[in-house]
Amino acid sequence: MSTDILKDIQTELPKVITSAKFEGANIVMYTDDIAFFRDNEGKIKELVNKFKKRIELRADEKILKSEEEAQKIIREKIPGDANLTNILFDPQRSIVVIEAKRPGLVIGKSGLILKEIKDESLWIPQVQRSPAIESKITENIRAVLYQNNNSRKKFLNQVGKKIYKEWNPEKVEEWIRVTFLGGGRQVGRSCILLSTPQTKVLLDCGINVAGKGKEKFPYLDVSEFKINELDAIILTHAHLDHSGLIPYLFKMGYDGPIYMTAPTRDVAALLALDFIGVAYKQASAPLFSSTDIKEMVKHTICLDYNEVTDIAPDMRITLYNSGHALGGAIVHINVGNGAHNLIYTGDFKFDRTKLLDKAIANFPRLETMIVESTYGSKNDVLPSRKESEDILVKEIKDTIEAGGKVLIPELGLGRAQETMLILEEAMREGRVPKVPIYIDGMIWDINGIHTAYPDFLNPLVRKEIFQDNNPFVSDTFVRVGSAQERKQVIEGGPCVVLATSGMLVGGASVEYFRHFAQNKRNKICFVCYQGAGSLGRQIQDGLKQIRMNVEGNDENIDVNMDVITIAGLTAHAGRTELLEYTNRTQPRPNRIIINHGEQSKCLDLASSIYKLHHIETNVPRNLETIRLR
Ligand SMILES: [Zn+2]
Ligand SMILES: [Zn+2]
Repeated sequence: MSTDILKDIQTELPKVITSAKFEGANIVMYTDDIAFFRDNEGKIKELVNKFKKRIELRADEKILKSEEEAQKIIREKIPGDANLTNILFDPQRSIVVIEAKRPGLVIGKSGLILKEIKDESLWIPQVQRSPAIESKITENIRAVLYQNNNSRKKFLNQVGKKIYKEWNPEKVEEWIRVTFLGGGRQVGRSCILLSTPQTKVLLDCGINVAGKGKEKFPYLDVSEFKINELDAIILTHAHLDHSGLIPYLFKMGYDGPIYMTAPTRDVAALLALDFIGVAYKQASAPLFSSTDIKEMVKHTICLDYNEVTDIAPDMRITLYNSGHALGGAIVHINVGNGAHNLIYTGDFKFDRTKLLDKAIANFPRLETMIVESTYGSKNDVLPSRKESEDILVKEIKDTIEAGGKVLIPELGLGRAQETMLILEEAMREGRVPKVPIYIDGMIWDINGIHTAYPDFLNPLVRKEIFQDNNPFVSDTFVRVGSAQERKQVIEGGPCVVLATSGMLVGGASVEYFRHFAQNKRNKICFVCYQGAGSLGRQIQDGLKQIRMNVEGNDENIDVNMDVITIAGLTAHAGRTELLEYTNRTQPRPNRIIINHGEQSKCLDLASSIYKLHHIETNVPRNLETIRLR
């Protein structure tokens, strides 16, 4: 074989290929031979098996039916009850995206309808579900991508060229290292640099929202991190402690690919927009602009769970369900053609929740595991989910019956939707009196993204959405969108309020807190992790008076409301799940590196894993490097 994979593939095909291009790690062949396009007699399949790469055949622009003709064919083939909402053409790539409310009916039995569309129009049809809740952000993201079709095609080809530059399936790397630029012995600003002699990849790049000054950000000013040497970024999930600084990397000149799932892309863009919006409200200069967020979107390569893809000549990754938040992933990295296999769990949950399936624990191969430890200490054995849900329901019931209001500060992604599902069910079954559940701000948009990607949810919720029984649009929930509506909630009767931010650092939750805090009939329920130094943590720890800035003046706010924490509703693995996961993962790793936990929790978990499972553990500090091979 030569070092030019495109040539290698073309020499195996008849002379009907007009051009060959990369789309990231995928290889696309264009042909102007209609008969070969319709039936290549398994030739492409053969090549996929031989080269172990994704190879796709598409029609050359010259032979495509016009967009009008193709529209006509599509509308004729698709049954009316599929509820077609949009047809979008990407002529650069000979692809047509068909959006419908019921994509199954577009696909047809065994994909028959799609095949007919393809054979007659010569376009490659791709089917997308139209979201049940309109999501501006998803629409905007799709618009950004379509407007930049041409530059996107070039970008993907560029990425592919780099991946296959030194295409050598036999090469083994002599060393592999991981450097912790953030998230070592702490929660917040997760950021790991993975390097080999050939490749540098960043795993997450987050912000510590509760941190002060420089401690907010990972150590990007160290000598081993050079932005122009970075080959790829992998984002596990959209929470700011993992994604927050990524748009800033684009501002600093990064122009390479970033890998994540499609829902993570949408939510990360939304959270980033909200993050700069909050900065404006607090009169501080935002770190980056919406242009940088757009660059992030344009450079995103979306992967499905379990899809294997090359990201560098010596690295191949697969994303697996992490059970933590919509689209969240555990990333498996095969380095140097199997020389070393690493998983980075990001944040994960090893238990099924209302929203998601539990994290995947079986991998093709595994030597090193980097694992989170948010709830890693002996004191973090969590009550069961059922118990925790019952406690939440009871606490809400008591407050409502006493005429009070309940505030639940939420992360926009994950916990809010989980709480919504618990409350919707409890109210439907009459376990909680019927009062409005107010949903403030961004949570609503993120609900929209959930319903746009039902395939990433667990089978029960997915089924409900498919059967037009979408729990997120139940009339139990009332959206609060304006200051006026917020005022009505504050002045109104008993209710439940779900608002961001989750740790009471900016956002609507702080405003509700200020108004609810002094009335002892009210209650605040913490259901997500409260970072050290955040207002949420101070209240959780029992602070009885808070000094707050209210419309320009500092004011003392007495905390008379009831304060409760329900740790068992967390989206993170509790102590028991962490020990179970590190023990049950197949195959068994040789080494476990612990991060994303306060120091005492990391150390406690590390020593327990060593004692119980006899696996070597490391607990790196920030800036420490560990050699894996
Ligand atoms: Zn998270
Ligand atoms: Zn996290």
